[in-house]
Amino acid sequence: MKENLAKDHFTFAHSKLCIGEAGKTGGWRSYRPVIDYERCTPSKNKRPSCFLCWLYCPEGVVKRSIPVTIDYDYCKGCGICAEECPTKAIQMVEESDFRE
Ligand code: SF4
Ligand code: SF4
Repeated sequence: MKENLAKDHFTFAHSKLCIGEAGKTGGWRSYRPVIDYERCTPSKNKRPSCFLCWLYCPEGVVKRSIPVTIDYDYCKGCGICAEECPTKAIQMVEESDFRE
């Protein structure tokens, strides 16, 4: 199956996300990390910088891009990215807030 993944110009050695035995594990999440791009340094400066959320995410679901994005199909909502973000750009929002 060919994946439609945009080229990441900043990552040199990183596993590609794929469906494992547990399926799309984002369904386990109770809280969703939401990025405020007004506070996120690379988005504000339009330059690659910081990316601590990418560095610390244990699931490898943060994309080191401008803007930074999170793959919610696999993010488990652990909140480490929000803890480590130096500008407090990531808020953990209850998943139920996104349901209709
Ligand atoms: S850690 Fe925070 S400021 Fe840094 S790239 Fe991630 S969201 Fe942006
Ligand atoms: S909540 Fe956890 S799994 Fe999801 S992006 Fe942040 S660090 Fe990664």
